[in-house]
Amino acid sequence: MKGVENFEFIPEEAARALEAIVGPDRITTDRAYCGADTGMGLSREIFGWGGISQDAACIVQPKTTQEVVGIVKVCNRYNVPYLPVVCRICAPTNPQLRKDIVIIDFVWMNKVEIDEKNMYAIVEPGVTLAQLQGEILDKDLYEYICGGGGYASVIADHVGYASGTGILNYRTDAWTTRRMSGVEWVSPEGELYRMGSLVEGDEHGYWHDGLGPSTIGLMKGNNGWGGGMGIVTRMVIKLYPFQPEKLVPEGIGCDSVVALPPRVRWYNITFQTEEALQKAMAEIHEAQICAAVNRVPVYWREIAKCRGDKDFRNQFWELWDKQTPETVAQTHILRVLIIGYTSLKHLECEERVLMDIVSENGGTPRKTRQGDEGTFFNPNTLDQWMTTGVFGLTTGSWESPRCIAEHDELFVDRLDKYEFKHEYLPQHREHPWHCSWALGRTRYTETHAWNDGPKIDPLDPKFDPGAGPRHLIAAFGKLGVDIIIGNGAQDLAGVFIRPIKLESPAYFDFTLWIDRFKKEFDPKGVSGPPFPYMMEAILAGLPPELQNEFKESAARAQAQPWKGNPEE
Ligand SMILES: Cc1cc2nc3c(=O)[nH]c(=O)nc-3n(C[C@H](O)[C@H](O)[C@H](O)COP(=O)(O)OP(=O)(O)OC[C@H]3O[C@@H](n4cnc5c(N)ncnc54)[C@H](O)[C@@H]3O)c2cc1C
Repeated sequence: MKGVENFEFIPEEAARALEAIVGPDRITTDRAYCGADTGMGLSREIFGWGGISQDAACIVQPKTTQEVVGIVKVCNRYNVPYLPVVCRICAPTNPQLRKDIVIIDFVWMNKVEIDEKNMYAIVEPGVTLAQLQGEILDKDLYEYICGGGGYASVIADHVGYASGTGILNYRTDAWTTRRMSGVEWVSPEGELYRMGSLVEGDEHGYWHDGLGPSTIGLMKGNNGWGGGMGIVTRMVIKLYPFQPEKLVPEGIGCDSVVALPPRVRWYNITFQTEEALQKAMAEIHEAQICAAVNRVPVYWREIAKCRGDKDFRNQFWELWDKQTPETVAQTHILRVLIIGYTSLKHLECEERVLMDIVSENGGTPRKTRQGDEGTFFNPNTLDQWMTTGVFGLTTGSWESPRCIAEHDELFVDRLDKYEFKHEYLPQHREHPWHCSWALGRTRYTETHAWNDGPKIDPLDPKFDPGAGPRHLIAAFGKLGVDIIIGNGAQDLAGVFIRPIKLESPAYFDFTLWIDRFKKEFDPKGVSGPPFPYMMEAILAGLPPELQNEFKESAARAQAQPWKGNPEE
């Protein structure tokens, strides 16, 4: 085994059986290796700083599906819990609440096969979004990149975590269960299955289903299982047509972008009122033009301006301190992308339609830098910590444009009335960022409440022990689940940020099915415990008075009209 052997948290017999599968170089029980990634990434403020994340008992790195099968069977034989992980950009996966977990790390399983003609790729779990994108952009094809960054695993992002979604889903399919045409799955007990087109063989990835009923839906509903339902070892991913020219890097360090070729162009447009912006958005959808459509809040614009040689956070505050509720209320920014998929004329034609819509709604196109930092390769993940040092996501939700508009309105109102709002970045009643999917039939929104970083960092002199739990409660309750279920949107952040049992009553008690599947396929409960109920476990550890607020949220969820309470 690599490093210093340690069998404090895993029976030596089990570790030796795992070593017999992968050999001595791809396994470790060394405490330094096992703790190297603990509690980093998304939600690190809760899991890392809060001391919740525990180091792995052992890390094992398979090279083939057969090795994965062997590892999972050994874990079942010795009752050892395991968790598949790839880039670990979410703190809950590094590993999580227990000290006895075996991490199955897919760093060596990173093969990509591309069928250019039929526009699909077959990927192993170690393949990252940037790696896939790098391979396919050269072939005039693209997929999507998540806000978390190009270093996320394609498979982890499509099935393991939340959504597999980003702004390019305006033109591609937003639902990963439809973008994945086939899946090879090692069940929680170590049985090997193929689903969708992979049932017919690798050359069938152009269609979504194999013969017989499709079981791909078992891999993911609205949210993923978080590693709580076995391991996907191969996946067929649908690819979409792009344009032939290269995206060339330009600039140095933090001030670098990829220069856009002539057939890819961004447009920043300002409107005089929010109504005019929203009307223009709706007309863009109706005309079925553009490749991405976003409403940009003023604080995102200020974040985007911060670059170059100064300390980014200070730069942000210098800009943001000048804003007031009045200036924010007068600024309405739309940012859209056009891709000339078939030719430059195609782009020019869409541009003319766009400019007609803009001028009819009194908008003004602004000078726009034709470079890209966030769309095709590697979004500026770190920027999301820029304002206060905290990643402040409280909801991420998708639904119809009307539903998302209400959702955002609710958030602005809730944050404004929240008793601890002084602990957050003052947003001056700005409306959240949102983008369109599926040519405007659906919208995706993210609401953020950026907490004061030093106050929730136990190692900082300004640490306030109440601030972290308060933020967690706000993200679960008043600024989170209450808003989502309050108007019926779907939740991006279930499983990893929110207790899904809390939401389940408002969504036809979907957790009943989760429990049935879990009992059927993972009777020993060794696959990624306590996923998908990670946040329930955290909630149970909070003081009772803090739990009450969630219980009230759950009661409100139970009373929603779509639960069969029409009088509500
Ligand atoms: C700032 C920020 C912004 C983000 N924005 C977005 C966004 O806009 N859209 C979006 O979709 N996501 C977003 N994310 C989430 C991000 O996409 C996920 O964290 C990412 O997909 C996880 O990839 P990973 O390789 O780090 O997976 P890991 O963290 O290693 O794993 C994620 C989960 O998947 C499970 N898993 C891993 N591999 C497998 C497998 N082979 N089979 C079954 N389960 C597996 C793991 O057990 C774990 O629970 C964001 C994250 C951050 C930090």
